Amino acid sequence: MSDYTNETGQPTGLPEKIQHYINGTFVDSIDGDTFEVLNPVTNQPYITAASGKKEDIEAAVAAANDAFKNGPWPGMLPCERARVLTKIADIVESREQQLAEMESYDSGLPITQAKGQARRAAENFRFFADLIVAQSDDTFKVPGRQVNYVNRKPIGVAGLITPWNTPFMLESWKLAPALATGNTVVLKPAEFTPLSASLWAGIFEEAGLPAGVFNLVNGFGETAGDALVKHPDVPLISFTGESKTGQIIFANSAPFLKGLSMELGGKSPAVVFEDADLETAINATIFGVFSLNGERCTAGSRILVQRSIYDEFVERYAAQAKRVKVGLPSDPATEVGALVHPEHFEKVMSYVEIGKTEGRLVAGGGRPEGFEEGNFVQPTVFADVAPDARIFQEEIFGPVVAITPFDTDEEALELANNTKYGLAAYIWTSNLQRAHNFSHAVEAGMVWLNSNNVRDLRTPFGGVKASGLGHEGGYRSIDFYTDQQAVHINLGEVHNPVFGKAD
Ligand code: NAD
Repeated sequence: MSDYTNETGQPTGLPEKIQHYINGTFVDSIDGDTFEVLNPVTNQPYITAASGKKEDIEAAVAAANDAFKNGPWPGMLPCERARVLTKIADIVESREQQLAEMESYDSGLPITQAKGQARRAAENFRFFADLIVAQSDDTFKVPGRQVNYVNRKPIGVAGLITPWNTPFMLESWKLAPALATGNTVVLKPAEFTPLSASLWAGIFEEAGLPAGVFNLVNGFGETAGDALVKHPDVPLISFTGESKTGQIIFANSAPFLKGLSMELGGKSPAVVFEDADLETAINATIFGVFSLNGERCTAGSRILVQRSIYDEFVERYAAQAKRVKVGLPSDPATEVGALVHPEHFEKVMSYVEIGKTEGRLVAGGGRPEGFEEGNFVQPTVFADVAPDARIFQEEIFGPVVAITPFDTDEEALELANNTKYGLAAYIWTSNLQRAHNFSHAVEAGMVWLNSNNVRDLRTPFGGVKASGLGHEGGYRSIDFYTDQQAVHINLGEVHNPVFGKAD
């Protein structure tokens, strides 16, 4: 029990039910429909959430459109909007523990890691508050003839569709730049984890965001999400989720020619060369796939290890994986908590069974002892995995890793690039030339050299191939959420080839 949980471990201060938030008011679905939200530790429903449909999306988009066309937000000075964003960051920081406990309860993420995510959500708001104030745009001079400048404008209603793996943080990653640039938004959070999204409404109200600027509709992807994507008054869709959902959204947006940003799935390689600092590489590759319950888009879920150190690596890695502590999400000692939902648990467990036919099981392989219910999975390690194995090719999104040996740099590169995905790559070597040459050749949107996934918010975030379309992060997010209008001013004689006076 903490200051924010009761004796059953349930967070105190839970709302009675999770509602939509439209035009500054919490509301039920127009048709009254709800769905049950499960506690991943027991799989028992603990709260209901409003299940949004097309009519609810229509009401939310109408409110956001009205706030964009008639409200103060888009026309406010960047420093005025930044002040609101900074207050949001302050409030999130001051409620970090409570937010983390709610997030951990709803998603099954270990409490210490949920706390890190709450902190990161605050940082995202602070970062985009600073960036929008510092934003400058291009001016070009053609001496004696023209001055041309860029007039950057917010676009309108942004539709934000988010997944369940780190809900609050990922929502902030879209909300902060969309709001900083003066747009209004409709957020459709993941149906497995609607709790923390509902907290934004109170935080935004307290920080002084005008009503109608932020709207929230809960519900399923195929209904609420689909209606948002197909709404003609939503010119932008920022989506994070599975690659195959991204394909559907891409197709559904095509008739409207919407602006799209897509952060999709991954199957990222961690490549360990024989000249790597082995101890650090093992620690990092353990964290890289088992943190956030393995439900991490940038997880290093394929580890490629040079043959000369392969046996030692596998032995030490498996021994350490067996000691990774699976436990209740609320326990500060827990390193791997409960997977988000029984459907996802079944998916991950099915891959564990597939893995037993495709690789050599060296750690884990099932449900941990003492956890007879709930979505708990042992950290699971398969060695000697062939590149055509399903557990090498397909995103599992759980605490399951495939290890494969290689002999040469060329072979390592071929293995690293041998999936449809291209989100991240982690490279472990002490050879500077190899590190850079390999980084440049690997098909990944983001590379970390001798490092875990440590983000600098100014750098581009996103994947190549089936891992995404477009990049967010730093000014790239500002570019996505704004139109850049080119304004041309004549300074001299009007340059006008004269038509119609030939005779
Ligand atoms: P998902 O694609 O099932 O769902 C994501 C969101 O899309 C949810 O809100 C869902 O309701 C909605 N949705 C589903 N179908 C829709 C439709 N037809 N139209 C509109 N919206 C729809 O993904 P998930 O299972 O929630 O999340 C896990 C996936 O997200 C993994 O593949 C993971 O790699 C990916 N992910 C990527 C990043 C990244 O930055 N690249 C970050 C986190 C997660």
